[in-house]
Amino acid sequence: MHILEEKLTKGMNELGLAIDEKALTAFRKYYELLEETNKVMNLTAISGESDVASLHFLDSLALLKVTEFENKRVIDIGSGAGFPGIPLKIGCPSMKLTMLDALAKRVGFMARVCEEAGIEAEPIHGRAEEYGQKKEYREQFDFAVSRAVASMNMLAELCIPFIKVGGCMLAMKSVDSGDEVKKSEECLEKLGCVVERTVDYAVPHTDVTHRCVVIRKVSPTPKQYPRRFAKIQKEPL
Ligand code: SAM
Repeated sequence: MHILEEKLTKGMNELGLAIDEKALTAFRKYYELLEETNKVMNLTAISGESDVASLHFLDSLALLKVTEFENKRVIDIGSGAGFPGIPLKIGCPSMKLTMLDALAKRVGFMARVCEEAGIEAEPIHGRAEEYGQKKEYREQFDFAVSRAVASMNMLAELCIPFIKVGGCMLAMKSVDSGDEVKKSEECLEKLGCVVERTVDYAVPHTDVTHRCVVIRKVSPTPKQYPRRFAKIQKEPL
């Protein structure tokens, strides 16, 4: 067995999750495209079978432990090269996945991965603050997931408008994010949300611990949010 497949199989076992042959084949294709495309496009600083398996694939897959994604509608905000969205979809094929990113080249990469690895998903080139005001996307998703995009109060304004009342935002953060999360409570309230829980997890085969902050939407987001990006940046909630 190659390093990637071995790390994924053992890592999923460590997380208490299962992985089948079909998923391993999709991850192999994704890995090859990531390495090939990264030579000509700035996609990620992480490379090599071992690090990609742990720090991209297993880190993303760990969210499958946090909540139940079966048949749920999920949007990944600022997905970049497809994290965490694509690994989540490979790990849970019944989810309906939309991935949004402001950079056309990265969206083109995600579309290629989906086509060549046989993954059914909707990659969109666009800005979260604009799509969050569109009727077809606003309050339509069970979950919004996001990794490494913005500080919590900015991220909340970008993600929460997409979530249905009763749904959740899953923000992938470092274990040092306690203050950042605490300071965002007022902002979350304005957007109709509360912090429900945080889940810390060890990223398999590393000494890294990451945190998923689970934020529950309890009431509709007021129409004025999300604001224009310049406003969100200048006056974060
Ligand atoms: N989530 C991926 C990961 O963890 O590898 C990518 C992280 S990358 C540091 C941040 C990504 O967010 C970039 O691809 C960028 O284009 C995207 N992004 C930032 N602000 C955005 C916005 N307002 N709307 C859509 N995408 C955005």
